[in-house]
Amino acid sequence: MAGIGQGPFIAGNWKMHLTRPEARALAQNVVAAMPGLQESRIVLIPPFTVLGEVGAVLAGSDVRLGAQDLFWEDRGAYTGEVSAPMLKEAGCAHVLVGHSERRQYFGETDETVNRKVHAALRSGLSPIVCVGEVLEERESGRTTERIDAQLSAGLRGLSPAEMAGIVLAYEPVWAIGTGKTASPGQAEEVHAHIRRRLRDNYGNDRATCAIILYGGSVKPANSYPLFKEKNIDGFLVGGASLDAADFIGIAGEALRAYGEEK
Ligand code: PEP
Repeated sequence: MAGIGQGPFIAGNWKMHLTRPEARALAQNVVAAMPGLQESRIVLIPPFTVLGEVGAVLAGSDVRLGAQDLFWEDRGAYTGEVSAPMLKEAGCAHVLVGHSERRQYFGETDETVNRKVHAALRSGLSPIVCVGEVLEERESGRTTERIDAQLSAGLRGLSPAEMAGIVLAYEPVWAIGTGKTASPGQAEEVHAHIRRRLRDNYGNDRATCAIILYGGSVKPANSYPLFKEKNIDGFLVGGASLDAADFIGIAGEALRAYGEEK
């Protein structure tokens, strides 16, 4: 992505957790660790209620702010929803789209993902678009079929130039919050597949520069071997992002792997 460095991209999805003081303290700890994490691209993704609080802590640092979801209209009578211009004004650089929990509990479909991706880009937000198979799809050999369907419907209508503003996250649903991580080999197989698809659809340059994150029970202990894989550019971290030491540890391990030959 233009203008945002090349090192490991580590995003922390705080989900529906943390009070204001807790959020502030966690953000402060992450900012304080940044001198040791130069070259990393760090994003904190708190709940809507503390975006302002966390944004104030991140101001002037290299840590960027993200939101967990958005609605595709810019304004209007949509009670309970938050729009891309609102998130932009709140200081967000990124927004998650299509997280498996949104798909599973809140009726998110590939079509709504696509509308949200377009809305985010229209407002200058970089969407982090999540894809991933459920266990039954993996066990029946339909992983890449599912990923392809999510990519083609979720990214429909985007130009190669617009693709430069997108981050992808491969998150096998069976690995999210379960303590089960995909092995580095399993994750790399899907990441390489995604990059091939991007190459076919948007050209070699766009595919080479694309940021493809892995998510699913990432911890300091498994982040080094995962990041060593050629096509894994960083992590989307859920549970472990709520603990400053773990989150910083994950970023540190990724940076260690980044410093070595892939
Ligand atoms: C996530 O929420 O995107 C995630 C990967 O969660 P966890 O790290 O807890 O599995």
